[in-house]
Amino acid sequence: MNCNFWPRFLKIFIPMAILVGMVIGSFFFQSLRTERDTSSLKDQALLEQARWVAAHLFHQKITDLMVLAEGESLQRYLHDDNNGSWAYLAREFETFSKHKLNYDQIRFIDLEGNETVRVNFNSGSPVIVPREALQNKFHRYYFSESIKLGKREIFVSPLDLNMEQKRVEIPFKPMIRFSTPVFDGDGNKRGVLIINYAAQELLDHLQEIVGSGDITMLNKDGYLILGASEKKMWGFMFGRKASFPAEYPMVWSMMALQQNGSFDHKKSSFLFTTLNPLVDAQSVDTREGISNTFLLPSAQDDNIYWKLISSSHSRDSVVFHNKAVFYTALCIPLLLVVIVIALNYAKLSVQKCRVLCEFEKLANTDALTGVANRHRFVVESEAEFSRAKRYGRGLAVIMLDADHFKKVNDTFGHAVGDEVLQWLADICQGAVREQDLLARYGGEEFIILLPESDLDGACRLAERVRVLVASSPLQTSAGEVAITVSVGVSMISREDDCFSNLLTRADHAMYDAKLQGRNRVCVKEDKSR
Ligand code: GH3
Ligand code: MG
Ligand code: MG
Repeated sequence: MNCNFWPRFLKIFIPMAILVGMVIGSFFFQSLRTERDTSSLKDQALLEQARWVAAHLFHQKITDLMVLAEGESLQRYLHDDNNGSWAYLAREFETFSKHKLNYDQIRFIDLEGNETVRVNFNSGSPVIVPREALQNKFHRYYFSESIKLGKREIFVSPLDLNMEQKRVEIPFKPMIRFSTPVFDGDGNKRGVLIINYAAQELLDHLQEIVGSGDITMLNKDGYLILGASEKKMWGFMFGRKASFPAEYPMVWSMMALQQNGSFDHKKSSFLFTTLNPLVDAQSVDTREGISNTFLLPSAQDDNIYWKLISSSHSRDSVVFHNKAVFYTALCIPLLLVVIVIALNYAKLSVQKCRVLCEFEKLANTDALTGVANRHRFVVESEAEFSRAKRYGRGLAVIMLDADHFKKVNDTFGHAVGDEVLQWLADICQGAVREQDLLARYGGEEFIILLPESDLDGACRLAERVRVLVASSPLQTSAGEVAITVSVGVSMISREDDCFSNLLTRADHAMYDAKLQGRNRVCVKEDKSR
């Protein structure tokens, strides 16, 4: 029996370590999933909040526009254009600009495109632009887009950066123009009212909502307008080609088709939503029975929309790293426990194995001579007999008995008798082959099982043993002891149906040797042979 320590250790350690790994691994992945789900819900809520804020700010600007467009001062000016009504209107624009803070310009432009009244915010100290400094804006897109609209229809320009003398104003001044045609008391169109909304307020609000999260905003052409370094943003203002659609055309075309959604790219997952503040603004104040006082020309519906994209990449990798560290740290003590359990198990198992081996050895060994005992011989000889029968192999048995052993005991004492028996066992053991089995069969009787052996070979061995015993007397403490042995040999035959047939023949052969005068080898062959 093999009583090795390490195979026993590994037998326990490997399955337990795998089990610990699987349990910890499943907790790890489960907690990652939960974390991802939670942060995805958080992102969704942030994106919704951003949509709500943008819609409210747009609603506010549009209603401001309508208040001014339909206000008494403008109506009075249209009814009677004189210095007094002009100044009255200009002062109202000035007051509005001063308190609203986010209107870079408020202008009324007449049907010919001439600025008639204009107030510049002037960093918080609004100024009324003198009449002689006013310009014609007939060819500007915001004028031509607005002048063609009907009553209460509004035009909103896309978000871009303010230009001064054909160059982008530094620091950047994000701008959206809200305009609407103005009608007099007789229902005649008289011009357009335009307010330039300094959209930094909107961007600041959005930035505040998304915080330091990985959220970016793209305009409808896929240029970054929020959430990146200045160098990467507002590319369309500088004629830069690098844009999201150019970099990720597939993702962009998918995003263009959906309002909200998610996509995976380079091991990162992204959530996106479409902000359409102009459309959303229409549903900001929907109290029963009260409808919006402004109208959105259908062409405007998709003029203003932005795509807000949240990436969970850097957050995911931080979460992954932290959780990996935590669960690895958790694994270490558990694996140490597993090692201790496996070590103890292996130690006990080895002890048990050794005790069992010892027992087995004791149960199979003759205590005096150290050779196999009769029990082991019976077990092994039955197995050899079956094998020999099945495969038609040779099997021989040698039985030998010390001659007049009683006399040895009587003459030299029992202890010397024991010594002689040990010596006899040694001689036999030295003579047999490795595959032969020598056993002490009874008091002074020995038996040898010879697998794969023929009768001649068995007889030669028997003779050799006999000669060895007879020719080499044993020197003992009590003097020289010379003994001989009588040997019986038998061989398996086709007729044998059990091993005892061979035994009986060997026994008879041995008695024949006794009868014929001892110190000889006799063979008992099967009669049928
Ligand atoms: P034979 O030649 O006919 O075999 O004569 P024998 O004296 O050898 O045969 P017998 O059967 O009369 O006596 C066997 C003796 O072997 C008797 C017994 O005391 C002795 N004997 C049996 N087992 C042991 C043992 O373990 N130690 C010792 N010292 N003697 C033993
Ligand atoms: Mg005997
Ligand atoms: Mg005897």
